[in-house]
Amino acid sequence: MQNILDLTREELSQWFENRGIRSFRANQIFRWLYLNLAEDFDSMTDLGKALRATLTDHFTLETMTLVDKQTSADTTEKFLHCLSDGELVESVLIPGKNNFTLCVSSQVGCAMDCHFCLTAKNGLKRNLTMGEIIAQVRDARIYVKSLGHDPLKLSNLVFMGMGEPLANYNQLIRALAVLCDTDYGMKFSTRRVTVSTSGLVPKIPKLGLDTDVNLAISLNATDNETRSKLMPINDTYPIEDLLAACRNFSMKPRKKITFEYILMAGINDSDEDARRLVKLLTPIRAKVNLIPFNAHEGAPYKRPSRERIEGFLKILLDRDMTAIIRKSKGDDISAACGQLKAKQQL
Ligand code: SAH
Repeated sequence: MQNILDLTREELSQWFENRGIRSFRANQIFRWLYLNLAEDFDSMTDLGKALRATLTDHFTLETMTLVDKQTSADTTEKFLHCLSDGELVESVLIPGKNNFTLCVSSQVGCAMDCHFCLTAKNGLKRNLTMGEIIAQVRDARIYVKSLGHDPLKLSNLVFMGMGEPLANYNQLIRALAVLCDTDYGMKFSTRRVTVSTSGLVPKIPKLGLDTDVNLAISLNATDNETRSKLMPINDTYPIEDLLAACRNFSMKPRKKITFEYILMAGINDSDEDARRLVKLLTPIRAKVNLIPFNAHEGAPYKRPSRERIEGFLKILLDRDMTAIIRKSKGDDISAACGQLKAKQQL
């Protein structure tokens, strides 16, 4: 049986049409699934018994099992989900002043092997299905609602959890279609959805053509030698190719590409790096997120001093680069950037 969360609205409409059922039923069911956050077919009360029985006969409504939830001192929450085949993934809910952001996983593990990132350590297990991507968001909205908030207050998504989203391109795009369906789906504004990539260059122009979501690039170095040492993907797609793809990325006026830059002491945090970064990014509508390195066991890197971090930022700002220091949330519960591993901690 198929998980109903794995179908786009068009596919569900078609499924009904093929059975001689009027296709507007798909819209109705989408509303139940994604706006009312229904947890089973029986609660879809305006569908009629016969239709509900048809659904139950043909589809599951698979949600993930929450195995663990940890809350950080800064109120960030990390969810550990168990998927139907027993694999584990994490997502992170980050409360803001007026809304929530969810950091979503796109794969179980990751194949990119970036040396600073904990998710890389166990390699790639498998891609998530669109339904599993969507389920993280649906479950988080259900959770936000249980806290007494309007579930739509979870308004921002970042694909910065486990995995390389562009290596799971088809499922990502299918999931985005439901998440950003403003009529019957989860109503995320594409302005509030960001897909982050380690630099799978061939998929970058496609993303710009297929969606309107924001692009973030994990750059992390300003010369190929350093970047290749940190991120093996750079051997295949070096900085020039990556930045060329960014220059040509199709996006609405006034939008910017975010460049994430982990600051690691003595590796990529010199004044020269800062100046080179400005040079590289000047031809691009860019903003820079500096992420002080988040430590994890066995990592050979260190976070630079506060002074060094601010010195680096100042060089960018003095040259009119838009840049901020991104304070990682949830590092006390290993929920910060590059700390997701989904080891079971029970
Ligand atoms: N694979 C995608 C999505 C994951 S995003 C990508 O690489 O963009 C995870 C972000 O956390 C990336 O920007 C990465 O550079 C950053 N990151 C990874 N390990 C980190 C660490 N130990 N400290 C700080 N940031 C880290």
